[in-house]
Amino acid sequence: MAKYKLEYIWLDGYKPTPNLRGKTQIKEFASFPTLEELPLWGFDGSSTQQAEGRSSDCVLKPVAVYPDSTRKNGVLVMCEVMMPDGVTPHPTNTRATILDDPTAWFGFEQEYFLYQDGRPLGFPEGGYPAPQGPYYTGVGYKNVGDIARQIVEEHLDLCLDAGINHEGINAEVAKGQWEFQIFGKGSKVCADQIWVARYLLERLCEKYSVDVEYHCKPLGATDWNGSGMHANFSTEYLRTVGGKEYFEALMAAFAKNVNEHIAVYGPDNHLRLTGHHETQSIDKFSYGVADRGASIRIPHSFVKNDYKGYLEDRRPNSQGDPYAIASRILATIAEVPKP
Ligand code: ADP
Ligand code: MN
Ligand code: MN
Ligand code: MN
Repeated sequence: MAKYKLEYIWLDGYKPTPNLRGKTQIKEFASFPTLEELPLWGFDGSSTQQAEGRSSDCVLKPVAVYPDSTRKNGVLVMCEVMMPDGVTPHPTNTRATILDDPTAWFGFEQEYFLYQDGRPLGFPEGGYPAPQGPYYTGVGYKNVGDIARQIVEEHLDLCLDAGINHEGINAEVAKGQWEFQIFGKGSKVCADQIWVARYLLERLCEKYSVDVEYHCKPLGATDWNGSGMHANFSTEYLRTVGGKEYFEALMAAFAKNVNEHIAVYGPDNHLRLTGHHETQSIDKFSYGVADRGASIRIPHSFVKNDYKGYLEDRRPNSQGDPYAIASRILATIAEVPKP
């Protein structure tokens, strides 16, 4: 038997987007614990905007488990928040609203800024560095500074150690801005991994006195890019049957639900979805082949392949809750009858 350090991670009740919370319990297991072996746990919901002080217990229900290579016998336990009965999802539990579809695949592209002393990492104390241009996928001290790459490389290794399905990383358009991509099969897998990857990034950055800024437009109405979290998605039907008729019906459903989508695509998105900087305006819905100024970009391969494959919704922002985003996309897809 060995003592494992179980880090139970959950989302709090803050609006408009939740924060990550985590606490550790030590339990003995013969080997690395499976999900089934992990007990329910609880926390004080009155400290996380999830309960009143008088009856403050909320329940943590483990839903996914990952190795934590930063700790000896470390385990990361992603949890859903449940009501005291242990079976009813808490109103803040967006994961519980996702339609189950093992054939749904998601790929999220998480953009974010690294921040230090209230400004993007690498920005001078006053004013701005050279305008954007050389930073996207750039190399060299003047483009990426000295510790940013160390952070993103260490983060990548932590995620791979945890079994998170990273597909890639890149330096982004603004100085101090980065991206990682995660892909997952099953309606909840990718969103779980995005939350755990965010947790690992924030925890890693503590020792560098750096914060992760997920706001979608931290530099306001300037010529500096905002941060998105493009949601690439497909279902078995889209991948294997598809067709122009089904695709057009699907886009009509996305157009009809534009407000419902924007509502969960992250706060302050009107600052980012302006029609500039490779975005469509927040009040318009459009789609187009290889069009980075559209709400939904259709990859070339999709049209070539008789309208089969995956689609990219470019509207979700960096601060959006991937559970709420996946939930909304699958709800809209479910509204469309298959011919
Ligand atoms: P870009 O920056 O050009 O939009 P990326 O390579 O950053 O492209 O992201 C494309 C994403 O699409 C990847 O994260 C990948 O996981 C995802 N993806 C690829 N194929 C599928 C598919 N069939 N279903 C869902 N997502 C997919
Ligand atoms: Mn990308
Ligand atoms: Mn990007
Ligand atoms: Mn993209």
